[in-house]
Amino acid sequence: MADSAAVIAAIGLGGNIGNPRQTMARALKLLQARDDVAIRTVSKLYRTPPWGNTDQEWFHNACALVETTLDPHQLLKVCLEIELQLGRVRTDRWGPRTIDLDVLLHGDFLSDHADLTVPHPRMTERAFVMVPLADIAPQAVVNLQSIADWSSEVDSAGIEALSKSGDWWQDEA
Ligand code: ADP
Ligand code: MG
Repeated sequence: MADSAAVIAAIGLGGNIGNPRQTMARALKLLQARDDVAIRTVSKLYRTPPWGNTDQEWFHNACALVETTLDPHQLLKVCLEIELQLGRVRTDRWGPRTIDLDVLLHGDFLSDHADLTVPHPRMTERAFVMVPLADIAPQAVVNLQSIADWSSEVDSAGIEALSKSGDWWQDEA
C-alpha cells in the first residue's frame, strides 16, 4: 500500500474456543484480503493462561502490525465485523471466545472513549499482549515505556510459543 495517508496499527488476536489457530489465521487472511489493510508483520503464535475469568480453556494469542488507510473507528468496525463473520458470540466479558480482535495501537491516535480506547486499556499489564507485541514492535513506546520493557515487567508465567516464526497463519486453510 503506497499511500501517504496510511498509518501503522497494531492488532491483538486471541481465542480459546474451537480451533483458535485456524480462526486467528482466517482473521488475518480476511484483513489481508482488503485493499485498505496490508499485514506487515505477525508475531509468533502463543498459548497463554486465561486472564480475568480463569475457569476456562487456555488461549491462543498473537499480534500483528498492519498498514492501513482506515481511521481507528473504521479499523475497529472491520475487526468487529470479522469477529462476527468468524462466529464470535458475545457472552461474558473476559469469558471464552472463538476470536477477539483488538485495536491495540493506531499511529499516534489517542482515545479514552469506551467504544474505542486506544492504546487498548490495560494492554501494558497483559503478558498475553506484551509478549507477542514485543516480537514485532519492541521499540514502540506506550505510556512512556517501550513494549520491550513492558514485556520484561509483566508476569509471563505459563506463556509458551507455539511457532518458531510469524508465518504460522500462512499455511492454515
Ligand atoms: P475485550 O476485548 O475487552 O475482552 P470485547 O472484545 O467483548 O472485550 O469488546 C467489547 C467492546 O470493547 C467492543 O464492542 C468495542 O467497542 C470496545 N472497545 C473499546 N476500545 C477497543 C479497542 N481498542 N479495540 C477493540 N475493542 C474496543
Ligand atoms: Mg475485544
